[in-house]
Amino acid sequence: MVVQGETKVVFDPLFRNGYGHYQLLPKAMEEALFAGVPPFDGIDAVFISHHHGDHFSPADILRLLKVQPGIHLYAPSQAVAGMRKVAGTQDEKVFERVTAIDLAYKDAPITMEMEGLLIEAVRIPHSGWPTSRLDIENISWRVTLNKTTTVLHMGDADPNDTHFERDAAYWDKNHAHMAFPPYWFFSSAGGRDILENRLKPDHNVGVHVPVSIPADPALRPVELRGYDLFTRPGESRVISGADE
Ligand SMILES: [Zn+2]
Repeated sequence: MVVQGETKVVFDPLFRNGYGHYQLLPKAMEEALFAGVPPFDGIDAVFISHHHGDHFSPADILRLLKVQPGIHLYAPSQAVAGMRKVAGTQDEKVFERVTAIDLAYKDAPITMEMEGLLIEAVRIPHSGWPTSRLDIENISWRVTLNKTTTVLHMGDADPNDTHFERDAAYWDKNHAHMAFPPYWFFSSAGGRDILENRLKPDHNVGVHVPVSIPADPALRPVELRGYDLFTRPGESRVISGADE
């Protein structure tokens, strides 16, 4: 979740599969999200990176939209199709708040707006490119809240600069105050190079961190010791350096 003033957005909040590696949402946090109680009150938008079980649960996101009528959803078409499969005709109204993103690999990034949000999206292949998971529509979201704070959520992006180089001007034109790359960007030379020379956020916090990686940097695999990672549900960071 990212908060700026009265504006709140959440990325990949509901999923049901940790595949034996990833933290699932704690029960109390899940209940607060559905109930819309603090800190999850007044969420404006939810963003989905891709239709994989450790990022997205179609039935749960549908339920969230039904019980929280103020939330707008932005998701790849593949994920929206997954929601339509579990939705009934009585759920049609919900889809008025759903924006399906149709982006193929190498398509130019797209830009949208809603109140308080500038939303930019580009398709970046899932890790495993170019041999596996090519069918998965993985979206990297760059979202600016109240023209003040810009964040970048990358989903399961593949750490190869060939995906980023073609949109060099796009990455330069709206610099991120904080990026949330999957942790493997830190443990691969290609990923580090993309962060340092292409995306250039003020600060990175690695996400999608396996539960086997300790919170204490000294106990981590050596290549992850020098990086900031989210390892525990509910921990937070202050986004500083937000400029006008
Ligand atoms: Zn994935």
